[in-house]
Amino acid sequence: RWLRQASFLKSVPEPKGLPADFGAEVAFAGRSNAGKSSALNTISGINQLARVSKTPGRTQHLVVFQLPGERRLIDLPGYGYAKVPPALREAWGRAITEYFETRNSLRALIIAMDIRHPLTDFDLMMLDFAGLRGLPVRILLTKADKLGRGAGGNTLQAVRKALSDQAERISVQLFSATAPTGVDEARAYVAEAMA
Ligand code: GDP
Repeated sequence: RWLRQASFLKSVPEPKGLPADFGAEVAFAGRSNAGKSSALNTISGINQLARVSKTPGRTQHLVVFQLPGERRLIDLPGYGYAKVPPALREAWGRAITEYFETRNSLRALIIAMDIRHPLTDFDLMMLDFAGLRGLPVRILLTKADKLGRGAGGNTLQAVRKALSDQAERISVQLFSATAPTGVDEARAYVAEAMA
């Protein structure tokens, strides 16, 4: 229930601008256009929640949404923008690794991957960053409505298989904001991670 009470707190260019490191938080990551904002909106049940992350000039920010009981959702900057200049991309890598390395209250990472192109180089890099501290990860194979049930199920199995050596830490599910599919499952994961 508390998951439905998310509200925008602040948007910060660097991890050091985040609120005090106590309580519990779950971060959302994904290639730009993977469906991360739609997933955040759907999971929190609040339309337009993640809209602020798309404000020009803030696409490289970490956006903090507050939940009751010192819990937070963190919308990490989308990655994989072809347009992003190398210096900014480097800054992105530094910000993410610093955040993962130093943030005690971080409990889990949600990675949105378009079910039609999962496990891109950027996704694998993100998984490596998370692996450095043994952070639990839930992969959402988004836009599952774009594939038939058979094809969706096959992709799910293929992604699970590719990560099977880390199956205790990295879990994978189908997700669609429009169908909707897998919303309760994703909510349960997020809530459990911050219980
Ligand atoms: P973000 O850049 O990762 O935050 O992605 P968005 O959530 O903004 O979604 C990118 C595009 O994919 C938008 O045009 C969305 O309408 C579309 N999209 C997002 N989720 C779904 C979904 O579950 N199904 C379908 N068919 N389209 C989706």
